[in-house]
Amino acid sequence: MRLRTECKSCKKLNKVSSKGVLLRRDLEEKVGEEFRFRCTDCGIENTTHVNSIIAANSNLVTYILIPFGAIFFILVSYYIGAIIIITALLSSNNSNSTLFNKSKV
Ligand SMILES: [Zn+2]
Repeated sequence: MRLRTECKSCKKLNKVSSKGVLLRRDLEEKVGEEFRFRCTDCGIENTTHVNSIIAANSNLVTYILIPFGAIFFILVSYYIGAIIIITALLSSNNSNSTLFNKSKV
């Protein structure tokens, strides 16, 4: 979860530390009901209320976990596919041998 607040001067969103923060109440205990921050874009110091903090989903899930999951899925599918093909070839080889052994001239 990413926490952001808007600069009153330039309206750009600024990052707020979200370490150990799950609820708005946690943030209030950490920084107080109102806290000051310096805008990273225009440098103006702002005072903001914890109720004006906006939470957004973390990019970790979007940019790291989903591609990692996709790669893991492809690798697992590849190995399962390889096992199925080897099993089919062994089975085919075995049935060919059996067929050959059963046939007499
Ligand atoms: Zn600003």
